[in-house]
Amino acid sequence: MASPVKLPTIHLREGRDRPLQLGHPWVLSGSVARVEGDPEPGAGVDIVDRRGELLGFGDFDPDSQIRVRIHSFGPTRPDPEETWLPARIEAALAWRAAHPSLRDTDALRLIHSEGDGLPGLSVDRYADWLAVRLTTPGMRRRVDRIAEILAGLTQAQGAWLRGETSRQPEGTERELFGSVGCEPVQIRERGRSYWVDLRHGQKTGFYLDQRDARELFRELASGARALDLFSYTGGFAVAALQGGAREVIAVESSKPAHDLLRRNAPEAEAVLGDAAEFLRKDERRFDLIALDPPPFARRKRDVRSACRAYKDLQLWALRRAAPGAHLLAFSCSHHVGPELFRKVALSAALDAGAEVQVLGTLRAPPDHPVTLCHPQGEYLSGLVLRIVTPPVSSHAGSAAVLLDASAN
Ligand code: SAH
Repeated sequence: MASPVKLPTIHLREGRDRPLQLGHPWVLSGSVARVEGDPEPGAGVDIVDRRGELLGFGDFDPDSQIRVRIHSFGPTRPDPEETWLPARIEAALAWRAAHPSLRDTDALRLIHSEGDGLPGLSVDRYADWLAVRLTTPGMRRRVDRIAEILAGLTQAQGAWLRGETSRQPEGTERELFGSVGCEPVQIRERGRSYWVDLRHGQKTGFYLDQRDARELFRELASGARALDLFSYTGGFAVAALQGGAREVIAVESSKPAHDLLRRNAPEAEAVLGDAAEFLRKDERRFDLIALDPPPFARRKRDVRSACRAYKDLQLWALRRAAPGAHLLAFSCSHHVGPELFRKVALSAALDAGAEVQVLGTLRAPPDHPVTLCHPQGEYLSGLVLRIVTPPVSSHAGSAAVLLDASAN
């Protein structure tokens, strides 16, 4: 039964209702036949098919390719008072609190946008503080309600609203509730401690999505000479020190990240500079390497060049590997997913003339859920590689192996 209040309505084009019926939470601009009722940015809209059947309800965004983010599917609109908002926030917090893999850390993602049925809302907890990101006009419209709900449910001392660099004008960052100091806050994750700048740091201050990979890095670190490439504030470097590495080198090009890394891992050798250049110039061999560059393919058309860049880095990392070394290599571009990334690794190994085993794969931990019908939510792919035989010469190169980037 359709709800009685008439809302602005998005009419889908013929044949474009299938993803929505499967539970995909986006209506792309190309699927829209017409918009009825002149909705404001962020307004709630009904979505109907060609015959006028109500398919779902969501938030309108005229400036995005993703024209509507859907909150509820089917012909019944959620309560206009938005009782679904506190219910979903509460549910997201409750299952995490009970999840066995999310214990032993006071830093985790509490709300993961589409993955928690709350498109446009990300909330991270750092000890007693929260960092909140609102990425759609629909969620920005609800800012006060979200603040009230989070203050009530989390007992956090304060929450910081991060700005949206791309769309929101600068200067919109502010305290959402409570108080958040200017100094970094200290978090504890599985016996490690880190300082996090939740006001200015990358993402919302820390790469929470690498928690499980850090844990593996710690396990592999005993006695190792470890290298943390693209280290940011030293997520992997600290884990290696905790795991008993005999030496840890961390390379990062951002000065604020490098400064915090030195505070997080004073025992590590902190290199401020370009990771690729480091690999070319520093001739030491490492037993354990984390290779976690920024996303090289933000758009689909960048995939080919991204693969070349990932491959080149891996090739050089292999040249710096000791026999039996472990390499944890990551892509955080959705467009370079697990299958393609494996081809990148194969291509690097062949070019380097190295014999490499795959010991496992890595992805973001459970506090970053994705729904089955929203594969776009997957963005982090990691490979756990063991270098059986590294390249003999650090400059050994064979004929370049062609990579079929269209295979994704
Ligand atoms: N491994 C980190 C996250 C890495 S994100 C962690 O777990 O916390 C990628 C990092 O690479 C960012 O900190 C970015 O500042 C840095 N970076 C980007 N380009 C770089 C380059 N050319 N050389 C070294 N670091 C770079």
